[in-house]
Amino acid sequence: MRWQNRVSKYMATKFLDQKQNNKVDLDLIAQGVRLIIEGIGEDPDREGLRDTPERVADMYAELTAGMREDPSEHIVPLSGNKHDEMVIVKDISIASLCEHHLAPFVGKCHIAYIPKHGNIVGVSKLARLAETFARRLQLQERLTSEIAHTLFELLEPLGVMVVIEAEHTCMTLRGVKKSGAMTVTSAVLGGFRKDPRTRAEAMALITTGKAT
Ligand SMILES: [Zn+2]
Repeated sequence: MRWQNRVSKYMATKFLDQKQNNKVDLDLIAQGVRLIIEGIGEDPDREGLRDTPERVADMYAELTAGMREDPSEHIVPLSGNKHDEMVIVKDISIASLCEHHLAPFVGKCHIAYIPKHGNIVGVSKLARLAETFARRLQLQERLTSEIAHTLFELLEPLGVMVVIEAEHTCMTLRGVKKSGAMTVTSAVLGGFRKDPRTRAEAMALITTGKAT
């Protein structure tokens, strides 16, 4: 009961606006893609491009599917646990879209948390949480903090740390062309923020796989 209340309160404050605006218009996207093809001087009616607008529309619908999902659905605690040591889930693959260029950024998300009262969440649920926020128009910084804050507010662990390393194709395919350049962002909440030793331990486990 208490759990449900907390989830619905969270939904009401954070996600109501987004959920009201959750339709995807494939025809409209396809029209836009056709204009891009024309705009670059290509012929949208030549054979190889004829179905491209629809294909791209489907792709963008899939890459923004997280806008039409409720992230709180993934934070269902597994009860009956005594575990109160740090949990780290490494190398969750993420693919997102940079909101400045609509270009993909891809990388790895690492999530660490310290459970309270034995409340833990399944590994696959953490991956789904990351995916729900990744599949939107994003900034890597915001993606990192949305994953961390949602886990922190809904699971109520003692601390949460999220680290994302990603390659932004808007950076590596154009402009400065720094192929392979990684952007690293982190969000640190609760106990990890207060205790530098725990934070260092989590960071070491994430980056090297070994405790300090
Ligand atoms: Zn960009």
